[in-house]
Amino acid sequence: MNDAQPEIALVEDNADNRVLVRAMIGGDYDIAEYETGPEALEGIPDDPPDLILMDISLPEMNGVEVLRKLRESPDVSPVPAVALTAHAMSGDRERYLEAGFDGYMSKPIVDDQAFRELVENTLTGSEG
Ligand code: MN
Repeated sequence: MNDAQPEIALVEDNADNRVLVRAMIGGDYDIAEYETGPEALEGIPDDPPDLILMDISLPEMNGVEVLRKLRESPDVSPVPAVALTAHAMSGDRERYLEAGFDGYMSKPIVDDQAFRELVENTLTGSEG
């Protein structure tokens, strides 16, 4: 673990997707994984990351709701967030931006480089 690496909170209930994200960007970022909304709401405000990657389709509460609640924490409020959406749900970009996300990526994530660039750009605030 390198302390200089930016921290990312990955909220994703699907283990395969967590492995995939870690395989793509785990070498460059310190990733904390959360499987459910309640887990994320418990852990993230105590250890605010530099970026949140949020699956939308989660059990118990969806990613839009989880982000809304996370944003109530002053420490998490300014943290940029990227929505990870199932392909069928990916059409409505404005909906995710209005919900407080800074960008989104549809799943399955097939374009490794586009994903890496989205993460990097969202972290540095140069692109949504
Ligand atoms: Mn899911």
